[in-house]
Amino acid sequence: MSEKIRVVTPIVEMDGDEMTRIMWQRVKEKLLLPYLDMEIDYYDLGLKMRDDTDDQVTIDAAHAIMRHRVGVKCATITPNGARVEEYGLKKQWSSPNGTIRGMLDGTVFRAPILVKNIQPAVAGWKRPIHIGRHAYGDVYKNEEIRVTKPGIAELVFTPSDGSEPVRKVIQEFKDPGIIQGVHNLDSSIRSFATACFTYALDQGIDVWFGTKDTVSKTYDARFREIFEEEYEASWKGAFEGAGIEYFFTLIDDAVARIMKSEGGMLWACKNYDGDVMSDMLASAYGSLAMMTSVLVSPEGYFEYEASHGTVQKHYYKHLDGEVTSTNSTALIFAWTGGLKKRGELDGTPEVAAFAQKVEDAVIEPVVGGVMTGDLMRIAGSDPKNRQVSTEGFIDHIRQALEKKVYRGGHGTEGYQRSGRQGDDGSYPCGVYRRAIHDSKQVHIGRA
Ligand code: NAP
Ligand code: MG
Repeated sequence: MSEKIRVVTPIVEMDGDEMTRIMWQRVKEKLLLPYLDMEIDYYDLGLKMRDDTDDQVTIDAAHAIMRHRVGVKCATITPNGARVEEYGLKKQWSSPNGTIRGMLDGTVFRAPILVKNIQPAVAGWKRPIHIGRHAYGDVYKNEEIRVTKPGIAELVFTPSDGSEPVRKVIQEFKDPGIIQGVHNLDSSIRSFATACFTYALDQGIDVWFGTKDTVSKTYDARFREIFEEEYEASWKGAFEGAGIEYFFTLIDDAVARIMKSEGGMLWACKNYDGDVMSDMLASAYGSLAMMTSVLVSPEGYFEYEASHGTVQKHYYKHLDGEVTSTNSTALIFAWTGGLKKRGELDGTPEVAAFAQKVEDAVIEPVVGGVMTGDLMRIAGSDPKNRQVSTEGFIDHIRQALEKKVYRGGHGTEGYQRSGRQGDDGSYPCGVYRRAIHDSKQVHIGRA
């Protein structure tokens, strides 16, 4: 290829920490910069820079995403007490993901990257289960009090119009304990619902949503009500036209059904449920590194990232001079997700086509048995399988990419893209629709 492909609008890059920072750099050097002419609006969200700037750099990065609409983010350390000491921090800064999600008010969508020779731990799962995680409020934007002496804890709402406050006793404490205050906003829940319905319609898959509304009769029930209102008002017709459905049930029932399903739906989750369940799904599908993650805001801002952390244990091994075998797939898919979106927004299909080649080049070595340690552990005992190092894996991807770029090769056998099912877009949702149909749960979306 003689000329680099031009990305016309700057892409917001957020650098990170530890092992992922090292891989992020290699991915850029070896898989992107040799082929792309792109302007990068760079923010170093490494812990030291966040500390040096009193976390202003995180806020600047979120504003940059609002300007350019597409950002890609490396994994970052959310400091705990140990990190404050390790890095000599001024304070225990909040999670950068939390800060950015709070500012963009988005929904995080995650989907596994399926490869034919890596089988999910749940044998029944045939298709990707996508997760839509509400990214605002609840326990991630809470206030907490440690109670150390007897007293009364109250929930008080003081209206700004001077009318009577609303008060409820939470607990009369006689002994030490804890209190937590959480909130959410109708507008944020509504945009969460809209984002989920939009995503599912785009992908041609059903939406499942579960809360604990039988216990939380006001808070969780409000989520259910808003989803129902939105669905009835704006989505029902389109969903019926597309042959897909919206299904609401209790969160614990949803979990039980997911385990027995064939997959192939968007599972809308409240913030905490999504945090926990996406890690469960990622590991059940194979590895935390085989999962895509994108934050979609109601204003149409997109932030792509890996769903795993900075892989601290591998980083310490690396610092000790040991050879590591860390999987860069999710980091690479963060870049390709961002580039595909950039291509779509800019009307530059060549950028999106290049990103697809990179994704295919990631899968090709794995299908051929070239894997990092996380995949080796679950790939079964095929004699062709062999473990490569962190660096070696990226080199194999580079070789596969070179062939695709120079010979125009495209497509990888054995790889199920995480978007619309099958590239012919042909697959029906019949199997689990029947299961839903039989249920006594509230089920919206059928005549
Ligand atoms: P982690 O980085 O996700 O790693 C947990 C374990 O999962 C690793 O020890 C490794 O298992 C496996 N793993 C994760 N990613 C892998 C990859 N790409 N390739 C191979 N194996 C992988 O979680 P953590 O160690 O609990 O957290 C480390 C730091 O990341 C923390 O400071 C946390 O705050 C931060 N974090 C950031 C984000 C984010 O920015 N999105 C998300 C979560 C956590 P083995 O050791 O068994 O090989
Ligand atoms: Mg999590």
